[in-house]
Amino acid sequence: MIAEARVIVPFTGAGISTECGIPDFRSPGGLWTRNRPIPYDEFVASQDARDEAWRRRFAMEPTFAAARPGRGHRALASLYKAGKIPAIITQNIDNLHQHSGFAAEHVIELHGNTTYARCIGCGEQYGLAWVKERMDATSYAPDCPACGEPVKTATISFGQAMPEDAMQRADELARSCDLFLAIGSSLVVWPAAGFPMLAKECGARLVIINNEPTGQDELADLVIHHDIGETLGPFVGN
Ligand SMILES: [Zn+2]
Repeated sequence: MIAEARVIVPFTGAGISTECGIPDFRSPGGLWTRNRPIPYDEFVASQDARDEAWRRRFAMEPTFAAARPGRGHRALASLYKAGKIPAIITQNIDNLHQHSGFAAEHVIELHGNTTYARCIGCGEQYGLAWVKERMDATSYAPDCPACGEPVKTATISFGQAMPEDAMQRADELARSCDLFLAIGSSLVVWPAAGFPMLAKECGARLVIINNEPTGQDELADLVIHHDIGETLGPFVGN
């Protein structure tokens, strides 16, 4: 299918990054089952919530900082370099597709990116080091010096609006590909989970690669319930 395809669009979820040491927050026993995620409106309303959100983020920093692209990331980067993949859609926030060789403008991040921060008011970007410095100095999560609004990781939190531009581009990619690869996602988080279905409806072949069954297995042309690194490993360097 990969050899026959003209335009391949991959859609990735947490499963592609677990071999890189990044835990699947949603999995049983994952971080979110122990630590309730902080919803967006709570982050906006409460300094305590913001302090806690940033404490948790910095506690995860050794994990994110040490993560390197895995075999799945590298395989997709190979197909991207070969001109088979115009852009990639991801639910991940770990920046590993960019690390593997995708240009930033070709990574469509549905849930944002946790490797930098952004003001929720004016959108100004800040490095995590800047946030850490301010927190260490004042013990409070900082507000934006430009507009006074809170600074948050550049991720999409629960209750926060989906990024319109990313949703639009993902929609166009799903409609225009002839092979859609859903990789490492349980396909249960909406609206992101609508894209494999859309691609299939628009005539693409749909392949699902995930360790566990997904909600859309019966729609797919091919379902592979197997380790992602092992499944995609042979495409690294091809
Ligand atoms: Zn601002």
